[in-house]
Amino acid sequence: MSMEDYDFLFKIVLIGNAGVGKTCLVRRFTQGLFPPGQGATIGVDFMIKTVEINGEKVKLQIWDTAGQERFRSITQSYYRSANALILTYDITCEESFRCLPEWLREIEQYASNKVITVLVGNKIDLADKREVSQQRAAEFSEAQDMYYLETSAKESDNVEKLFLDLACRLIREA
Ligand code: GDP
Ligand code: MG
Repeated sequence: MSMEDYDFLFKIVLIGNAGVGKTCLVRRFTQGLFPPGQGATIGVDFMIKTVEINGEKVKLQIWDTAGQERFRSITQSYYRSANALILTYDITCEESFRCLPEWLREIEQYASNKVITVLVGNKIDLADKREVSQQRAAEFSEAQDMYYLETSAKESDNVEKLFLDLACRLIREA
């Protein structure tokens, strides 16, 4: 069996306002690090990480925006063939939460109707600066039928869980 073999391949796409921590989440999960300072944008289309779930090799192709979200220039091609979307906001930034309906409209317009969407509130290490309560986010995600989780890319809280739970769900619905 070669290193290339896998049982499942899923495309996961991160969306959400600029600055919420999408690139840091991807880096934390795929490389185990939190990049210091600004300029965390990877600059490549996607990162790959293969995980093993119940003896199955699951290859995750994780797409991060290369900063296009700043210019509202994310297009259909970015969403095309995504199996899952990680819709991210920053718990310390009300504005990033208020923009979620706009992102949901994009999802509806561009993504597959079978796509699995996870709502992620990032930066929970900054609890003293929290602007979006857990209850508010939980109610919003429930109304939209989304799975919801809070993370810290910085402290590595719930980042593995986010991707592994998502992979499990993708396998179940594959
Ligand atoms: P993106 O524009 O959504 O890709 O956001 P980035 O990943 O580039 O992160 C934007 C800024 O937020 C950077 O300064 C990061 O260091 C910071 N950041 C990202 N995730 C976290 C986190 O979990 N906690 C804290 N405290 N800062 C974070
Ligand atoms: Mg980025």
